[in-house]
Amino acid sequence: MIHIVLPVGMLQCNCSVFGDEKTRQAIVVDPGDEISKITAILDKHKLTVIAIVITHGHIDHVAGAHKLRELTAAPIYMNERDREQIEMLEVQAGWLGVPTPPKVDIDVLATDGAVLHLGSGIDFEIMLTPGHTRGSLCMWIPQEKKLVAGDTLFRDSIGRTDLPGGDGAMILSSIKTCLLNLPEDAVVIPGHGEMTTIGREKEHNPFLVNRPFSSNR
Ligand SMILES: [Zn+2]
Repeated sequence: MIHIVLPVGMLQCNCSVFGDEKTRQAIVVDPGDEISKITAILDKHKLTVIAIVITHGHIDHVAGAHKLRELTAAPIYMNERDREQIEMLEVQAGWLGVPTPPKVDIDVLATDGAVLHLGSGIDFEIMLTPGHTRGSLCMWIPQEKKLVAGDTLFRDSIGRTDLPGGDGAMILSSIKTCLLNLPEDAVVIPGHGEMTTIGREKEHNPFLVNRPFSSNR
């Protein structure tokens, strides 16, 4: 499978382009900005986008979605609970001092457990992982042992929870119940920064390691 990660926009959101070599179908995750770079990759690999998936409604992940949808006619998948985020894109733009992006419409509601199929047999499983926002989701690709984690899990860190819709206890619960059960060697592509693995974060992530005093004696 073709998989290209490109950091886009001011906050360098990791946009992923997944492409199937046989059918030339593609899934694009988090087209936050710099859509011309994304379409250049699609053209280079002769890919047709069948789905645009948004991990959560923060402006740096979603700002280019409308434009990519116009150019490709592919539907936008997003969780219902982050409608509140895309309804406040103007406020979010104000935080960053950038122009308000065009309105984003959700075409398909990405529900927990839903599976998208790419090409002849690659599954993209939606895992709802609230905490960074109420509708934050991750995508697990079992055949590739890859997790697209949005802003839920980072190398050595977790997503911030101080913005509207954030919940510190919930993000920890989402990570521990959904993500840490994945294979240790599963590769994590976070919403920003370097890739990591589930095993590495279990061992080194300061937000997740079990400290001695937490033993239940
Ligand atoms: Zn975010």
